[in-house]
Amino acid sequence: MAQAQVTLDDGHGGNQVTITSKNFSPAEETAFLDRNKTNLYDMLTTAGFNTTMLMASDTVQVGPVQIDFYKTTAGPYQRYDSMKKSVRTAVEMLNQDPALVFPGNALKVFCAETADLSLGYRYLNNGHEYAAISLGRTAVQAAQNPMTKTVAEEVSAYYSPTFTVEALERRICTTALHEMGHVLHQIQHLESYIMLARITELAGQAISVPAVAAQMGQAYNLPKHADFNPVPTAQQLHDFVKHTLRAGAGVSYYANFNGLNELVAEVFSALMMGSPVGNDQGVDTNLLNVQASNAEVMATYGVLQGPIPVANARHARTRSAAQDKLYQVLGRS
Ligand SMILES: [Zn+2]
Repeated sequence: MAQAQVTLDDGHGGNQVTITSKNFSPAEETAFLDRNKTNLYDMLTTAGFNTTMLMASDTVQVGPVQIDFYKTTAGPYQRYDSMKKSVRTAVEMLNQDPALVFPGNALKVFCAETADLSLGYRYLNNGHEYAAISLGRTAVQAAQNPMTKTVAEEVSAYYSPTFTVEALERRICTTALHEMGHVLHQIQHLESYIMLARITELAGQAISVPAVAAQMGQAYNLPKHADFNPVPTAQQLHDFVKHTLRAGAGVSYYANFNGLNELVAEVFSALMMGSPVGNDQGVDTNLLNVQASNAEVMATYGVLQGPIPVANARHARTRSAAQDKLYQVLGRS
C-alpha cells in the first residue's frame, strides 16, 4: 500500500473527518527513509557520536535479533549497563510476536544518557535498510515537565513481582518500547507515519481553526500540502487533531500533547508493558473535561495504523494500577 486514509470522529458527536494522503511512489518513500538517516545522524552528532566512524561498543544476540549498542564519546556511562539489560528485555518481549520484526533482524541502539534525545527510526543507508533507537535523558530520568510525562513514568512507579527489574530498568525498557513502536509503525505502515507527521506539522496543537490555517500557510509548510490528496481544510485538520489528542488523554500527558505519532508510540509501549489504556481502566492524566475510554483509544490507535502486539508478547500485570497507587501511598511494594 502506498496510500493512507484515516476517518475519525470523537465518539461524542464531533464532526467525522476523513484525511487521505497522496499515493506515495517507491522513489518518494525511499527519499523519506534517506531523510530519516540524515535526521538521525544530525541528532547523533549533536549528542556526541562520531557518525563518520560508528563502531559498536557491544553486540548482543537475542533470539534472531542482533543488537548493536553504541556509546556516545561524550559520556557519561553510568546507565549504560542498565540500558543494555533493559533493551534486551524489550527485544525478548518483541520476539514473542512473529510480526514485530526489524529489517534484517538487526537493531542499533545509541546510548547517550545525558543527551536530549530518545528516537526511533527506520532509515536507509547506502540503499540498506536499518532500524535504530536512541536512548537519552528521557529514558533514565523522571519528566521535568508534567506535559512530557509518558507511559514510562507510570510503569517505573509500578511494581509487579512478575517483572523482576528495578524502577530505572522498567523506565528504560518502556522508553525503548516507545521508540521501537515508532520504528514498527514506520515498518508496518510508512504512509500512515508520514501522513501523521505532516498533519502534526501543519496543525500543531490545533488550538483553533484560524491557528491551523495560519500554520498551514507558513512558507515552510506549503510544500507539505502535496503529500495529501485532496488537501484537507484547516477545519478538517483541526477536528482530526482534536479527536486524536482526545484519545491521548486516555494514555499519558505526552500522548495528549505531542502529536499523532507520539500517541501511537505511547499506546504501543503501554500495550507491551501491560500498562492501562483508557481513563476507564485507571489512567489518570488529570486532564479535566477530557476522558477517553479504552474503546475510544484503541479505535483511534487502529485508525492510525498502530502495531498491535500479540498477547504473548505483552507483559501481564498481576496487580492493577489502582492497587499499586495504594501500595505506594502506604510506602509498601
Ligand atoms: Zn516518541
